[in-house]
Amino acid sequence: MDYKDLANLIFPDAKDISYYEEKYPKRNLKEGAIVTRYAPSPTGFMHIGGLYQALVAKTVATRTDGVYFLRIEDTDQKREIKDGIKEIVTSCETFGIGAKEGRNSQDQDVGNYGPYKQSLRKDIYQAYAKYLIEQGKAYPCFCTSEEGEKIRAKQEAAKVRPGYYGVWAKCRNITVEEAIEKIKAGEKYIIRFKSPGREDRKIKHHDIIKGNVTFPENDQDIVIIKADGLPTYHFAHVVDDHLMRTTHVIRADEWLSSVPLHLQLFYEMGFKAPKYAHIAPIMKNDNGNKRKLSKRKDPEAAVSYYDEIGVPELAVREYLLNIANSSFENWRRANKDASIEEFDFQLNKMSVSGALFDMVKLLDVSKVVISKYTAERVYEEVLKWAKKYDKDLEEMLEEDMEYALKVLGIERGNKKPRKDIAKWSDVKENINYMYDDKFFETKQEYNYQVINEKEDINTILKEYIDNYYDDNDDKQTWFDKIKELAGKLGYAKEVKEFKANPDAYKAHVGDVSTVLRVALTARTNTPDMYEIMQVLGKDRIQKRFEEAMK
Ligand code: GLU
Repeated sequence: MDYKDLANLIFPDAKDISYYEEKYPKRNLKEGAIVTRYAPSPTGFMHIGGLYQALVAKTVATRTDGVYFLRIEDTDQKREIKDGIKEIVTSCETFGIGAKEGRNSQDQDVGNYGPYKQSLRKDIYQAYAKYLIEQGKAYPCFCTSEEGEKIRAKQEAAKVRPGYYGVWAKCRNITVEEAIEKIKAGEKYIIRFKSPGREDRKIKHHDIIKGNVTFPENDQDIVIIKADGLPTYHFAHVVDDHLMRTTHVIRADEWLSSVPLHLQLFYEMGFKAPKYAHIAPIMKNDNGNKRKLSKRKDPEAAVSYYDEIGVPELAVREYLLNIANSSFENWRRANKDASIEEFDFQLNKMSVSGALFDMVKLLDVSKVVISKYTAERVYEEVLKWAKKYDKDLEEMLEEDMEYALKVLGIERGNKKPRKDIAKWSDVKENINYMYDDKFFETKQEYNYQVINEKEDINTILKEYIDNYYDDNDDKQTWFDKIKELAGKLGYAKEVKEFKANPDAYKAHVGDVSTVLRVALTARTNTPDMYEIMQVLGKDRIQKRFEEAMK
């Protein structure tokens, strides 16, 4: 009896691997095209670090005319959560990182290299495990968990490395006959890889992000097929990334220390190993300490948070690229209007120790991103957000779309667009005052700053609306008239004049403008007042001034 008999007994129905090798041929892509993937486990809420990985992977694939696909790694079925796949797929799609190939919903795949959900690939893993058993490179292990405990205790007492290796690998030297007998007698077993490695030998490896690394060889006889018939991560990674013709494995750096094992598995299976790029976790500065973004402490760790507060998907991607490559910021400065797809992203320029994440910076980036949007795009995105999170705002926007577009269009589309909106949840507060029912519904507090005498204020407002304001004025005329009014009432027409001779004036034209602005909006800070007046029109301006004069 030989290995083949053992393999046939364990996996009688498994196909020859040549079947899969033909079914999943080398991809027909141009030289240098990168095939990579995002391979999450559906075990919890989506972390921003996951989105970051997905974005990096998709970016390098797209930039080389390669392929980016999504694979669901659900071999640890105890840890799986309900709707875990949906959370991953929708999060990626919401933030513009959807995959054209792979799992695209709870129960659907697109692409020729599937299934893209590991639990549906049992037959495939078993065929490859059988292939290893046939060559004596894998074997059934009958150790129970009690036996495992005993081995561990002995190793501890002997002060040696824990694990299933060398002399401690009890089942690796069981004869084929003995193994067959045990299986026939109904003993339970798992399948282990028979590692040819030696711990006292080193391997050198080049990681695209981490650079050159040296590790001891792997000598652990790791489990490849578990008691439930499913593979472990290590074995599934090797089989899948081989069959899906992945050229680059881009993943979290918690897997860096498994590289010796993975390279060994690729080699023993006779496959070409992919290149590896291990991404360090996203970090946060917490009172001077750099630490990982934590799902427990930081709301911004959850991808859903950005949807809830309404950060546009483009802003999230732009910010993540910004922290992924430090050259992004200079590129953006030099290419203000370029699309982020044009940025020459470099995998090997990613931070070895972890990019620093800063919510304030993200919101600043978002302000700039939104400032470049047309009013129509703002309207569309903010409405979509409002439908989910703010019914009142939804009504405001839908009641009179044309008016909403005018309001959202204030100081937009010009050279220096407004930058007061960082997220869709800011919009209401920034447009409320343009809606009469909202404006008059609350008792406004007017903070006029410099000019504070009721009489002075009323004179300015009355004079201005009666004798100066005209809806048909262009911006220059409009402004000249405010100056004129200022002069007439004894205020300096120019700030310069006032500064040169402060005792000669009560205040200056800027202070007069502030009076108009505050009476109009009950705010000291607004986008361009000329545009605000244009949108409101004379009658509504007058009504607001009358309210302020009371
Ligand atoms: N399922 C693994 C994880 O979520 C993926 C690692 C990989 O990309 O290969 O950590």
